[in-house]
Amino acid sequence: MKKATQQQTKEHNRNLALKTIMEHASISRAEIARKTSLTRTTVSDIVAELIAEGLVNEIGVGESLGGKSPILLSLVEDSRCLLSLDLAHNQFTGATVNLRGKIRERLSRPVKVRQVDETLALVYQILDQLLASACQPVVGIGVGTPGLVNTREGVVVNAVNLDWQNLPLRDLLQERYHLPVYVLNDSQAAAMGEYAYGAGHDPDSNLVVINARHGIGAGIVIHGRLFHGDGGYAGEIGHIVVVPEGGLLCRCGNHGCLETVASVQALIRRTQVLDNLPAVHTDTLEAIERAFAGGDALIQQVVLEAGRYLGLAIASLVGTLNIQKIVLTGEMTCFGQPWLKAVQETMRQSSLTRLAQATQLELGKLGGNGVILGASALLANDYSLLFSHRS
Ligand SMILES: [Zn+2]
Repeated sequence: MKKATQQQTKEHNRNLALKTIMEHASISRAEIARKTSLTRTTVSDIVAELIAEGLVNEIGVGESLGGKSPILLSLVEDSRCLLSLDLAHNQFTGATVNLRGKIRERLSRPVKVRQVDETLALVYQILDQLLASACQPVVGIGVGTPGLVNTREGVVVNAVNLDWQNLPLRDLLQERYHLPVYVLNDSQAAAMGEYAYGAGHDPDSNLVVINARHGIGAGIVIHGRLFHGDGGYAGEIGHIVVVPEGGLLCRCGNHGCLETVASVQALIRRTQVLDNLPAVHTDTLEAIERAFAGGDALIQQVVLEAGRYLGLAIASLVGTLNIQKIVLTGEMTCFGQPWLKAVQETMRQSSLTRLAQATQLELGKLGGNGVILGASALLANDYSLLFSHRS
């Protein structure tokens, strides 16, 4: 193993101290030294650097534990900002996010035309507008996109909805904006969002997030890190076949995939062919949601059936991973507790009792912002980015 250079050790210590400060609302130098096992002198030097960088400031005096009252330090949460994109099926959303995951600005644009040039132009338009009004300095751009993504290369390999094939999105954005860019699958981004800012987590915990929207995917976090799998496509559960015979044609070319029975598009397709429906137009999710909330029995039946198919797929994840915390996100969660219950019951019926009993299944805490916050969390966790731009 190569010995860490002095520079690497210095950066490691600096990142460790910064991480500790980020994890606390306020903290003293002595407390940082205690938590990181760095010497007090080292901590003092690092804090001086962080203050000079504008990342940290002194916010007052804490309670004395006998000796002199300690000076408290805190992260300057708006000292850097991150741009984040959620490229959903029918609308693109962009946001400016600060270092604590607070959204400072947010804008959405409908996706009307699905040609590569047009959808890319829409991405540029959103980023241009955010950059024009963003706090400074902007340290990076994070993108959550549907489809298969090669995260290492920043290439969208295949996003059927957007008609993107082998699109080098990271390079295109880097060339245009001269900023570091992360591109990841929207389900992976949602998982990072829930992990970093959703339900309370300890840094070493595991989490599975099932993102059920136009498509369906899972994001798997193991020991606090996204699990990508060997090919980078871990969590692509949307195309597992759950209707082995006579299933509907899926956009992937196969029949009976989970997406054909449990996603938003499946729901819309399903409700449109129901011929004994009352005079409701169910061509949008909002319309279905209204009918569902209004007690339409047929719509409720269709929605709960979608939930049961999802529960079936989740059961196989429970059996494979035995990760005990599973969070559901995406537009399908608009059907709330009744849908969650349908998912849960089927998951339990289709799993080993012991495993299912220990598995906690819940709705995400971030509303529609999970993908945005996850993409920005990845940037905020790459501490080297925070130092490359001096204000
Ligand atoms: Zn499929």
